[in-house]
Amino acid sequence: MANVNQPSDRDRMVDTQIQDPHDGRPPVVDHAVLRAMRKVPRHLFVPQEHQYLAYEDRPLPIGYGQTISQPYIVAIMTELLQLASEHRVLEVGTGSGYQAAVLAEIAGDVYSVEIVEPLAMLARERLAALDYDNVTVRAGDGYLGWPEYAPYDAIIAAAAPRDVPQSLLDQLKPGGRMVLPVGPAWRTQMLKLVARHSDGSITRDDIMAVGFVPMITN
Ligand code: SAH
Repeated sequence: MANVNQPSDRDRMVDTQIQDPHDGRPPVVDHAVLRAMRKVPRHLFVPQEHQYLAYEDRPLPIGYGQTISQPYIVAIMTELLQLASEHRVLEVGTGSGYQAAVLAEIAGDVYSVEIVEPLAMLARERLAALDYDNVTVRAGDGYLGWPEYAPYDAIIAAAAPRDVPQSLLDQLKPGGRMVLPVGPAWRTQMLKLVARHSDGSITRDDIMAVGFVPMITN
């Protein structure tokens, strides 16, 4: 596992998978996103036995049947949110906490909900150890959002509901953006960008086909 935590591994990840992917994927160009992807130590968010794969172009298991998303997917979803430093962000599906850390590098405050309690606890400890004091993690059902801190400038989900949850839409500010996979469980889903405009109207754009774990609904 030698050298896996070197910044050069992260730079290579960003250069070849995210900034200049050679396989037709649209490149990520937002400087703040690229900077965050170069900075957050992804290997510290995966189980030790998978750390040597932390900077590869793939999702990885994090236990409890869940996965940390592929680096490119984390980057493109973050870019689509068009975050600013004063933004308040809601994340559904904390998982390892990696996406939350990337969001926290750019936005003001991140509120993240994870339905698997041990994952929520582990992510909370990990993010605190890395001094991400602008991330708040709660164990619970994120399908319902987190009304206490609503409305949000941005909402991101790393688990796929069948349809865009009305509860999340209701917690999005006018001018806010939501990025999430939508579709049937264990099949290809569509990554969607949902924007609530200042006049109240809502637009939905299909971005790309993706494969996420299903969003659990109780
Ligand atoms: N963003 C994560 C990826 C986690 S995978 C990372 O960077 O590691 C998706 C996560 O969504 C899983 O941990 C799963 O347990 C969680 N999840 C699924 N349904 C959920 C729900 N209704 N509320 C909150 N979390 C949910």
